[in-house]
Amino acid sequence: MMSLRLPSIDGLLRHPACAPLLERHGRESLLASLRQLLDELRSSVLSGQLSAVEISPEVLAGRVGERLAQQQRSHVRRVFNLTGTVLHTNLGRALLPDEAIDAVQMAARYPLNLEFDLASGKRGDRDDLIEGLIRELTGAEAVTVVNNNAAAVLLTLNSLGARKEGIISRGELIEIGGAFRIPDIMARAGVRLHEVGTTNRTHARDYEAAISPRSGLIMRVHASNYSIEGFTARVPTAELAELAHRHGLPLLEDLGSGSLLDLTRWGLPAEPTVRQALQDGADIVTFSGDKLLGGPQAGLIVGRKELIAKIKKNPLKRALRVDKLTLAALEAVLGLYRDPDRLAERLPSLRLLTRPQADIFVQALRLQPLMADLLGESWQVSAVEALGMIGSGSQPVARLPSAALCMRPQVSRRLRGRCLLNLEAALRALPIPVLGRIDDDALWLDLRQLDDEPAWLAQLPQLQVDS
Ligand SMILES: *Cc1c(COP(=O)(O)O)cnc(C)c1O
Repeated sequence: MMSLRLPSIDGLLRHPACAPLLERHGRESLLASLRQLLDELRSSVLSGQLSAVEISPEVLAGRVGERLAQQQRSHVRRVFNLTGTVLHTNLGRALLPDEAIDAVQMAARYPLNLEFDLASGKRGDRDDLIEGLIRELTGAEAVTVVNNNAAAVLLTLNSLGARKEGIISRGELIEIGGAFRIPDIMARAGVRLHEVGTTNRTHARDYEAAISPRSGLIMRVHASNYSIEGFTARVPTAELAELAHRHGLPLLEDLGSGSLLDLTRWGLPAEPTVRQALQDGADIVTFSGDKLLGGPQAGLIVGRKELIAKIKKNPLKRALRVDKLTLAALEAVLGLYRDPDRLAERLPSLRLLTRPQADIFVQALRLQPLMADLLGESWQVSAVEALGMIGSGSQPVARLPSAALCMRPQVSRRLRGRCLLNLEAALRALPIPVLGRIDDDALWLDLRQLDDEPAWLAQLPQLQVDS
């Protein structure tokens, strides 16, 4: 029997089947992909495992075309976040309002006055672009902005407490996802940790007893992603500030998500506001831009003017500063806070967080028959009430009443796990991947964040579940 031979690279490059690929991807990429494929096939051809059709130019061009298309697809991809966690750190946290998206486009497309004072024609400071708004919204004297809140905490500690002791309650030595641990950050900032009190109870006298000439600052950290209940005690910020100031020490408060307005006004759980922390006497408050604030990733450091000036002089500030796109987005988002009455309409994170359960439930009832139809007999699909979360360390215990499509495989207990994973994978394989959560032997799609229902529906017929 005559053995088959792979077509030559040159022959393939000139073949009409490859012409559209050459046009779309360019010669270099096509050549590399063809080489790779032929190398992979060579041994199978020699051992006679492939037919003549399987190594025809048309079939080879088709395979290379698929690979090139795959490579060309962006790795940064939009998804549907139906996990029930609104500010999901792994899924990019807050979504920006149109005003911020427009500002980002402008800043990306044109030169701008990033560090240029248009009034005087002299060099400016990028923090000045949002200082007025921050002062108005929080009552702070001054502000500086860095890459994220982790950077804000690191920079503040290093600027105000290096080679000194930082006094902090044992109940606030927290770890946040992604390896942010207060004791480690303190060590990296050059601040010696002086922990006081106990995990559940820390008193003013504990702080007071720790103060010595070696002390540099007192720190307070929002517990963010855990909560202690029962026999607990914590010194109110006002009292702690008074104590710190009596001993000439600054009080830093890491607020974490840091809301600018009282969220109970929208029926959400109470979170301490930045303004309140400053009013209570915190000298510096740090918080994230992309958690409850609903803006871009950033870390805001606000507070007393002379302390902010010291922080801005730290060379680390230069290493941690934000770019023009972030500042443009941040200013636009902060601007929306000047009109709190319309904030819930205009700020996507607040709009999603405050979406009424009844609305979400109606949506679930509407979509249930479509999903049931699509999945067929082997799944039970129901519209049910569900509980979501704010996410990003805001209110770890509070639940957001929501509604979901709940899909249960109608198979023996032994096979359920596999079925659920298959459905989860199929949803992830859609052009816009759909992410839900598996819980209690069912796959849940929490619909609180299903804003773009048309796009979701349009791709659903492509769902392919292996059974
Ligand atoms: C989230 C959080 C951080 C880290 O903020 P990033 O913006 O994610 O860097 C630090 N401290 C507290 C208390 C937090 O909740």
